[in-house]
Amino acid sequence: MSKISGKETKPEILVRRFLFANGFRYRKNDKRYPGKPDIVLPKYKTVIFVHGCFWHGHDCPAGKLPESNKKFWEEKIAGNVERDKRNKAELENSGWKVITIWQCELKNKEVREKTLNELANTLHNNTYQ
Ligand SMILES: [Zn+2]
Repeated sequence: MSKISGKETKPEILVRRFLFANGFRYRKNDKRYPGKPDIVLPKYKTVIFVHGCFWHGHDCPAGKLPESNKKFWEEKIAGNVERDKRNKAELENSGWKVITIWQCELKNKEVREKTLNELANTLHNNTYQ
């Protein structure tokens, strides 16, 4: 239940470490922006959300809802998804590029390297200077 409390979780730390090691500078959990993005890269006018698949309703095995109490979970997760959408739209309307990284995209070394390399490429192609 603590996954959406905004506390640092391991996947976020992974992404931050990667960015820092590759020379990207960022702010974290900046409350000034909708949804308090996990990572804010002002130079790239980009925010990154690192989403847990279950809580944010990812269409992957880890996002599958439990059979018991299904209705409760459906409504709960649908609410989160709706809020994520609103935050993203708000950020994009203010000129931010929004990148969402799913927990399952960081799961094992192979997938993780691919995800992080793509992230670095996206950021490099998106410098606002
Ligand atoms: Zn997923």
